[in-house]
Amino acid sequence: MVGTSTLLTACRKSEKEINNVEPRPNRELGEMTLRTNPNTGDKVSLLGFGMMRLPVVAGGTARENPDSPIDQEAVNQMVDYALAHGVNYFDTSPAYCQGMSEQSTGIALSRHPRNSYFISTKLSNFAPETWSLEESKAMFFRSLQYLKTEYLDYLLLHAAGMSGGDKDGMGAFYARYIDNGLLDWLVEQKKKGKIRNLGFSYHGDIHVFDMLLRWHDEGKYHWDFVLIELNYLDWNYADEINPRNTDASYLYAELEKRGIPATIMEPLLGGRLAKQPASILREMKQMDINATPAEWAFRYAGTPKGVLTVLSGMTYMEHLQENCATYSPLRPITKEEDEMLMRLADKLSAMKSVPCTACNYCMPCPYGLNIPVIFTYYNNCLSEEMDDEKPEGSSESEFRKARKRWLIGYDRTVPRIRQADHCIGCNHCLSHCPQRIDIPKEMQRIDRFMEQIKQQM
Ligand code: SF4
Ligand code: SF4
Repeated sequence: MVGTSTLLTACRKSEKEINNVEPRPNRELGEMTLRTNPNTGDKVSLLGFGMMRLPVVAGGTARENPDSPIDQEAVNQMVDYALAHGVNYFDTSPAYCQGMSEQSTGIALSRHPRNSYFISTKLSNFAPETWSLEESKAMFFRSLQYLKTEYLDYLLLHAAGMSGGDKDGMGAFYARYIDNGLLDWLVEQKKKGKIRNLGFSYHGDIHVFDMLLRWHDEGKYHWDFVLIELNYLDWNYADEINPRNTDASYLYAELEKRGIPATIMEPLLGGRLAKQPASILREMKQMDINATPAEWAFRYAGTPKGVLTVLSGMTYMEHLQENCATYSPLRPITKEEDEMLMRLADKLSAMKSVPCTACNYCMPCPYGLNIPVIFTYYNNCLSEEMDDEKPEGSSESEFRKARKRWLIGYDRTVPRIRQADHCIGCNHCLSHCPQRIDIPKEMQRIDRFMEQIKQQM
């Protein structure tokens, strides 16, 4: 299987050439920005360590090498560095890293005093066989055991609003948390001190999000925090990129007016905002010559005052170091910078890329397609196409060469029998996608795109 980072270079000229922004030279680290949880007074680091992309011994993450064990030594080193540099929020789930994340997180964190960090994990009872109260309780107790802790600082109902089994978002939510009495049982656990903050992460059906906030208003259930997707592209364009999604500006405003702290996922939109077409990068560099695309995205996600922490799934020490630097301390986005990012978001949304965050939840495809790799490859081609808007300098033959390179790169990155044209539209993947991407339809679009290029050749 080819990893995302491999295919990025396969499609594009070179990472260095396109995103040739080095992190700030000799940057002095100040204090990590902390935000206060109004419910508990917790002083939470603005950078939260997402434990969903942990490194594995064979290299890369469990996504690329699912049979390889987690590289615990590397995880320990990153956790130690994070704690030493003010990061105190660690977010995991029974579903991450082929089910290995909680154990690895528990091993790394338990080497430190329990009061030096906050543990966040989730009730990830996605599969219908885990919907019973008994199975869900067992999942909860396993989390405590794996994380080597008596209590959880932050517990989330995982992906409220996502469809599951044969149920839509609302049906799956009721089956997972309400009809079985699980949510009431979790409220009891909070009273007993096993959970300090109870919240939910939202994906999918907006009616579920609105209903849960209505329950909060009515005093039926109290939400201490909510995890939402927020970045400068999703702020105004989530629903244009994918009509089934909701703009982050709406989600954030609904939380802010109730004083519910927002925790943030996908600040980089599955890594897409960390790699930018050259034309976008040029504008960013005009504003700040040394800022990386990732730095812009993290500053944007961390600027709203109601944000408690911004999660980043970090695999390598360099990512952790760069992200620590960005928030030590945070330089809030100015009005002028905000205008620039909104302008860039206008351009990026016009690319019509696939809003895949490479989470891998849709895998495996029974017909062997490598769904996230195909989508990432296609998105990278679109980015490159965007830079071809200026063909005064680029001759027809250069243009053809670029297209040929895409075709060759596609075959190298995705074996032919796993390419988009092999999707039979079985819909097996559909209910698993938290971004609610119409995967078979997108496969058809990508197939047409590649066919068109072949015709042009
Ligand atoms: S719809 Fe296509 S991509 Fe999805 S599981 Fe079926 S064959 Fe695979
Ligand atoms: S589940 Fe959706 S977002 Fe995740 S990898 Fe598959 S297509 Fe992409």
